[in-house]
Amino acid sequence: MELMIHSIYSNREIFLRELISNASDAMDKHYYLAMTEGRPLDRKDLEVRIRINKEKRLLRISDRGIGMNEDELIRNLGTIAKSGSLEFKEQLNKDSEGSIKDLIGQFGVGFYSAFMVADRIVVLTKRYDEENGWRFESGGVDGYTVRPYEKKVTGTEVILHIREDEEGSDDYGQYLREYPIYKLIKKYSDYVRYPIKLYMPHPEIAEGSIPENPVYREAFEYETVNSMVPVWQKTRSEVTREEQNAFFKEHFSEKTDPMSVLFSDVEGSISFKSLLYIPGKQPHDYGSEEYKPGLELYASGVKIMDHCTELLSEEYNFVRGVVDTTDISLNISREMLQKNRTLTVIEKNLAKKVRNELLRMLRDDRDEYLKFHENFGHHLKVIAMDDYGKKKDELGELLLFYSAKEKKMITLPEYVEAMPEEQAYIYYASGSGPDAIERIPQTEIVREHGMDILYFTDKADQFVAQMFGSFKNKRFRSVASGDLGLPEEKAAQEKAQEEYRALFDFVKQTLGDRVDDVISSTRLRSHPVCLSNGEGITFEMERYFRSISPDMPMKAKCILELNTAHAAVQALDKARTEDPERAVKYTEILFTQARMIAGMPVDDPSGYTDLLCSLF
Ligand code: ADP
Repeated sequence: MELMIHSIYSNREIFLRELISNASDAMDKHYYLAMTEGRPLDRKDLEVRIRINKEKRLLRISDRGIGMNEDELIRNLGTIAKSGSLEFKEQLNKDSEGSIKDLIGQFGVGFYSAFMVADRIVVLTKRYDEENGWRFESGGVDGYTVRPYEKKVTGTEVILHIREDEEGSDDYGQYLREYPIYKLIKKYSDYVRYPIKLYMPHPEIAEGSIPENPVYREAFEYETVNSMVPVWQKTRSEVTREEQNAFFKEHFSEKTDPMSVLFSDVEGSISFKSLLYIPGKQPHDYGSEEYKPGLELYASGVKIMDHCTELLSEEYNFVRGVVDTTDISLNISREMLQKNRTLTVIEKNLAKKVRNELLRMLRDDRDEYLKFHENFGHHLKVIAMDDYGKKKDELGELLLFYSAKEKKMITLPEYVEAMPEEQAYIYYASGSGPDAIERIPQTEIVREHGMDILYFTDKADQFVAQMFGSFKNKRFRSVASGDLGLPEEKAAQEKAQEEYRALFDFVKQTLGDRVDDVISSTRLRSHPVCLSNGEGITFEMERYFRSISPDMPMKAKCILELNTAHAAVQALDKARTEDPERAVKYTEILFTQARMIAGMPVDDPSGYTDLLCSLF
């Protein structure tokens, strides 16, 4: 526990922000429940009070939130103190400094950050619907105790016993003085929408003292410290970029500044204010089951939900933010939210806004967009191929692919724009990376024609091509497919097909079911053979399907193409008439080579080498 406490936070002072944020959440929940249950609860009564007792070294933070019952106390605050601490230590030992900080978000140890400044913490709490309260006490390392406690008002009071200072230092002592605490509230919690009241000295003139020589009497009163206007209720110009970023990081437990910040203030048949962020980095749990998409939803300033997915279309599930609208009622149920027209209208509006921002980045700030695409491009591609590419027009422009010619990522519109007039298709080739793809023999001829090829290196790329079928009326075509639609290709192929008919028949007969067809290739240059798929499923897709489901009946067509101009094929043709046994061996060797180039396994490596050696 000690270790955890001291290694997670480099910045001790944030403990106060964490406790205030818990208090504010608890009041949100309390208010929301009261509203939905029709219980009277005056929002004015909801506040956080902070008070210092210097002599006893105590800092108290109390709220009028929902409170906790015994079970919740143990579950929420006890777990980490006990079992969780072990798990934590193990994680800490394994992980590097950077990821340690990520853990805080995953484990939700906000409360425990208080042990950075306190050596003992007492929590007094009463849940709104219980008669009695509970007292929790923990020294951090040695677990905790929970016992009943007579508490009248609903809510929670956290009492920190502030650590002793070493001789001459003010490391902890500063948290027992009003002014530093005041500054911390201002710095981190100014936007919290409930008053945070600090018990402050207000010296009064003592009764009976004369005005010329006043005697002051020490007096205290609670003073509201925070301005309470949430960031999203302001306009962009009222909030500095630093404040916008700080809100993002604190509110959504992010470590990196956002890439874009989008403010909206819409008035009309439906009115709302929103503040959206495009993160600068993938959230640590993005793509896992734990990741919760959705925007925070407020109805007239009251939080309704933390993750409202109805507000955010799936393709933009990485966007974080807040929506505050006057057009939904507080008592709305979750089921009702799902088909709520107001939310649909807001969702459409926000999706457009995010898309426009991404297009702006793509146009004006390519480097930023590249970073964005590295983080979330794969996700956009996955969504783009959903429902047979239903969103192809909307998302197609946002996707980047590697261009063989430009040697960088480009968009589909950019590819189509640069196509020479005689180019019929959008060519693509798949493989693990640009270098590997470059070596595929079929890419040669397309490049020779001065045409660009998109190198598909993301797993999703070829599915996108398959689902889209075409983009701006240009069909996608794999360079591994038989017909590349190149102008002189067809005539030459027909001629060779006729001329070498006997050779093709021989090869097909020798290979039997292992190939669907044997044809003449006009696109091979330095290589004698290659495999192609014709239209439809490619080898990569077959491999992918088999990796997720071994029994999947999807099978790519296997067409063996021969380069009749190549010396090896010429030798084969010659052997066919002079020494058929040798010709069979040549056929086997060339077929194995074609499979290897297509990235397929050699079924019988020693058989293959024996075969090769038998020729000498
Ligand atoms: P997090 O806030 O990230 O969930 P914490 O360790 O800060 O993690 O708190 C754990 C849980 O304890 C909270 O989710 C909440 O349910 C409960 N809790 C903490 N502080 C309060 C409070 N002041 N009032 C009511 N519940 C609280």
